[in-house]
Amino acid sequence: MRNLKLLVFFLCKLAGLFHLAQWITRDRLRILCYHGFALSDEAEFRPKLFITVKQFEQRLATIRRYRLNVLPLDEAIHRLYSHSLPDNSASITIDDGFHSVYRLAAPCLHAQGLPATVYVTTYYVENPHPIFRLVVQYMFWKTRKRQLLLKHAPWSTHDAVDLSNPEEREKAVWDCINFGERECTEEIRHAICEQLGTLLETPYEDIVRQKLLHLMSPDELRALKDANIGIELHTHRHTFPSDSRSLAEREITDNRAALKRWITAECRHFCYPSGLWDKQQWVWLDSMRIKSSTTCMPGLNSPKTPRHALRRFLDSEDVHQLEFEAAITGFTDLLFHGRSGDPI
Ligand SMILES: [Zn+2]
Repeated sequence: MRNLKLLVFFLCKLAGLFHLAQWITRDRLRILCYHGFALSDEAEFRPKLFITVKQFEQRLATIRRYRLNVLPLDEAIHRLYSHSLPDNSASITIDDGFHSVYRLAAPCLHAQGLPATVYVTTYYVENPHPIFRLVVQYMFWKTRKRQLLLKHAPWSTHDAVDLSNPEEREKAVWDCINFGERECTEEIRHAICEQLGTLLETPYEDIVRQKLLHLMSPDELRALKDANIGIELHTHRHTFPSDSRSLAEREITDNRAALKRWITAECRHFCYPSGLWDKQQWVWLDSMRIKSSTTCMPGLNSPKTPRHALRRFLDSEDVHQLEFEAAITGFTDLLFHGRSGDPI
């Protein structure tokens, strides 16, 4: 099915329809979304979450080739709603704030003279360990062992896990994550990872040394300013509950307070963690002086797009170059959704 889609894209591009789509959608704002950049084999581990530098550089060259006007997010949002957006405008956003943004993405963007915005979730900036739920999955993915022998592991009721059995393996992964997230302090989670790394023969200290699956440090966040990369809000603990206004607001308050300790600029733009949102949260966001909120819904944006339901195109290693071109030219949008950006 995907091959058929790529063939259609290839033929349509050849027929000049990508350029036609770009012209038709020239008044729409394209917002691109990235997450992590691969320092090692993360793009093989999670191809929907990470992208290699090689592919990212190709994307930036493509953005240049299609002559997109890449604007800083604040300017793009302001101009979108004041009807003064230049044709073919785009904005580049990066979620979470992985260490690899500083190491890999910032130099690429700086070399191309392209601005970007990072939505930073701050818990793992304050606690500089690998993100627990990701590193547990990574170690289980990377191990060559076929059996995991567990002695007195508090998170498992079994003494052994058959790692060649995908269901058993997956259950062990989530038993460990759920136990760590629900029952443990950050220090104990760190100790669980060390023990798990030894048992799986995937040394945790190597992951820590390479800073895989880590977020940026406060110094690294501060240094982004030199690469014209802005910093915005993404909650403190990567959650934004729709059933509790006080908990949701606390996430933004804590996120803002943490960022304020490290950077001087005031943060007024927001990205929903995991793309989960509810319309009733819009009034909460307004009361927190949030100017815009981005989702993971695909599509282009117009002045009619609600400012707390902005659409983005999620790019990663898993996205074919033709799919990327189809998205940034607006071809995908015209093909599958008609002209999006209208009120939901
Ligand atoms: Zn996120």
